[in-house]
Amino acid sequence: MYKLIIFGAPGVGKGTQAELLAKKMDLFHFSTGNYLRELIKKETEIAKKVKEILEKGELVPDDMMIEIIKEALINNNRPNGFILDGFPRTVKQAQELDKILKDMNLQDIIVIYLKVSHEEILRRLLLRGRADDSKEIIEKRLNVYEETTSKVLDYYKSKNTKIIEIDGVGEIEEINNIIITEINKNYYI
Ligand code: ADP
Repeated sequence: MYKLIIFGAPGVGKGTQAELLAKKMDLFHFSTGNYLRELIKKETEIAKKVKEILEKGELVPDDMMIEIIKEALINNNRPNGFILDGFPRTVKQAQELDKILKDMNLQDIIVIYLKVSHEEILRRLLLRGRADDSKEIIEKRLNVYEETTSKVLDYYKSKNTKIIEIDGVGEIEEINNIIITEINKNYYI
């Protein structure tokens, strides 16, 4: 069973690669960004609050994200495994995820770390033009990544979690094939 996390700065292509991997390997793809963008279409108080957070480029509180991921993993019925995209984004989330996976007997994850230069990220995000892709919000999100999310990688390194580092610049299919080769080289379970 594949237990994958795709990790990297905004704009590195996590969503695109995760979707392709899920299709080819029959995995459960859970994108917290997609989930939250669906959620904010609702007319609830919580949706309003989340919308404000997303529009500012800030992070949704850990407690809420942890509940969301727990429910997603419990409801997953794909026997081949899962790929998490957009989670964890803080060390707290990573620690809680470890506990959840341990309780579910789903240890030994692999982290796919997609790397792209800062200039290329800015170029891509400005081209993408999503609601939270204005220059100001992009800068905020990149800041949040540098200050908070990048620490998640240090956390996994300190725990000797398997990290596959992939160059995110190139053809989508080509990058995807490199990822699959690397996953299969490293998967013994
Ligand atoms: P990107 O592709 O640019 O990394 P995402 O679609 O993954 O963006 O996420 C969009 C926004 O959703 C983030 O900027 C953040 O506000 C919120 N978000 C997504 N995942 C999380 C998370 N794990 N914790 C907190 N906030 C999150």
